[in-house]
Amino acid sequence: MFRSLSSRTLTLSTLLCLTLCLTGCINLPPYGMIAGSNSYDGTTIVMPVGAPSIARGFNGNTRVGAPNTHAGIDVVATVGAVVLAVAPGEVTAVAGDLLSGKRIVIDHGKDRSGSIYSTRYFHLDSQLVKIGDQVKRGQIIGRVGDTGLLAPYPHLHFELHRGYGFGHAVNPHEYWLDGPGIVTCFMPYTSVQTSQFRMIYPVKCLQ
Ligand SMILES: [Zn+2]
Repeated sequence: MFRSLSSRTLTLSTLLCLTLCLTGCINLPPYGMIAGSNSYDGTTIVMPVGAPSIARGFNGNTRVGAPNTHAGIDVVATVGAVVLAVAPGEVTAVAGDLLSGKRIVIDHGKDRSGSIYSTRYFHLDSQLVKIGDQVKRGQIIGRVGDTGLLAPYPHLHFELHRGYGFGHAVNPHEYWLDGPGIVTCFMPYTSVQTSQFRMIYPVKCLQ
């Protein structure tokens, strides 16, 4: 009993240490920065100066069924910062677990090209929607937190998935409203007409 408990404790502390070492975000400025490479597939990522920084980028494997090394982006923000729905949709999960903490899933349905998308928001401090809620783009759905063992510091782990059911994680930088690689802060009262799924940054930017 004692032995299995200490081995479990060791595993959890190793996991926490590994997470801390991998993020390397401790000295990252709070706004306008992306840790590590700021490009994907040769496209430079344009980050607004007022956008909360990204401590860890997407490093997923987009083949269906393949494991992801980091299936989303980690946006650094203080506990209590608002989390926004990146596109209109229906809330399909408001849940929580030991590793991911409190999370929300939004199903965005099919775009005009027939692809189906969903987004996931992890490590929340609070969840402000319930299953079945229809949300608008930019609507406040929760608050940033550090819940879950994979959140050693407050941040939003955000994932975009394409496909039915769980789908597979895709690079969020390909889907910003202003175009691939152009991180797009939410602006109220902007009318949006897109045939392909497009989204805004999942947290509020400084004006
Ligand atoms: Zn993450």
